[in-house]
Amino acid sequence: MKKTLRDVDLNERKVLMRVDFNVPLSRDGDVADDTRIRATLPSIQYAADNGAAVVLMSHLGRPKGKRNRSLSLKVVAYRLAELISNPVKFVDDCVGPEVDEKIRSLAPGEVLLLENVRFYEGETANDPAFAQKLASHGDIYVNDAFGTAHRAHASTAGAPALFDIKVAGFLMEKELRVLGGLLAEVRRPFVAVLGGAKVSSKIGLIKNLLNRVDRIIIGGGMAYTFFKAAGLEIGQSLLDENFLPLCRELLEISSRGKEKQIFLPVDSVVVREVSVSSELKVVSTGDIPEDWIGVDIADKSVDIFRREILRAKTIFWNGPMGVFEIPPFASGTKQIARALVEATEKGATSVVGGGDSVAALNQLHLADKVTHLSTGGGASLELLEGKKLPGVEVLDDVNVSQPVNDKR
Ligand code: AMP
Repeated sequence: MKKTLRDVDLNERKVLMRVDFNVPLSRDGDVADDTRIRATLPSIQYAADNGAAVVLMSHLGRPKGKRNRSLSLKVVAYRLAELISNPVKFVDDCVGPEVDEKIRSLAPGEVLLLENVRFYEGETANDPAFAQKLASHGDIYVNDAFGTAHRAHASTAGAPALFDIKVAGFLMEKELRVLGGLLAEVRRPFVAVLGGAKVSSKIGLIKNLLNRVDRIIIGGGMAYTFFKAAGLEIGQSLLDENFLPLCRELLEISSRGKEKQIFLPVDSVVVREVSVSSELKVVSTGDIPEDWIGVDIADKSVDIFRREILRAKTIFWNGPMGVFEIPPFASGTKQIARALVEATEKGATSVVGGGDSVAALNQLHLADKVTHLSTGGGASLELLEGKKLPGVEVLDDVNVSQPVNDKR
């Protein structure tokens, strides 16, 4: 168990807190959805109310180590200021003399948001010199960014390792408690539903998952690399050729046991181009015409997936079943969301991780009808695989023989 904010004396201390303010932005550059900001308010508020000067750091998007005005966290500082009563300041860098000066003059109860840490290459490279600069910003480190805890970056791994006191924020604590509890005593059958387009990051973990779950349902863009691996025509659908050998191996593993372990769509909605006005038809797997693109699972697949979901006692869902941002291609994702809710109502435990699946549930106003909505897609998948998260490992453990300063 990890120590949390509650276990440390915050009075008159400078707290450096890693948060996940990687929020979606609207076209005019404003915060389009402030869920992630709200999710970490309890930690910020608690630290400020208990006498800490709070320095916040986060990434936003993928600026690839370069300054990028459209990925500035300044808009987030404005939104944060609307959400808490404490003074919120912003500094347009995350290291350097100006930042040092602002932190020096930061009073207890005040909050300072630093500029996007990914404006520096040292962040994702976990560069020791960059980590050292970040670490100089506080005397207590707090990680409340579960969504990036699977990354060994400077702000999540390198910097905290340099602190004497490094603890979890409340959001991090809740994610670890719920997901850890779920994985410690899994009720079976345990079914993972995977979708989305990140072929490279998700297909790689399926092998590990096969050891942990009873069945894996695969939809979304990922499915087409499997079809190609099976020698089927996929037209212009999403494909990652690097993963063809692995997909072949996985299909072979799946068919080895008494019961099939991997379920793929048996039909697809296909279009000539991925746009709302495109001509659309439903075809069986293997019948995708050369110039067409698979954008959603169709009814027969939904029926099979739904049946498997309703047989499960534990369900983990990550990634949409189709290009759900475009309404005509959102049907498969919506029906899978409804199946998940139905299974939950029948007593199953359901966990949904990842921004897109959570967004789909929000669109359907079903977000409160699943057991747990996780703020981390990749992080929750890695926990599920049985991996240790670098951003969690580095935090202080509760020393069971030595009672912590419990202020509850
Ligand atoms: P991920 O970040 O891996 O969860 O992927 C989410 C994205 O996958 C969404 O933006 C979807 O539009 C996209 N997606 C889902 N199905 C497909 C598909 N069949 N072809 C291309 N993109 C897809």
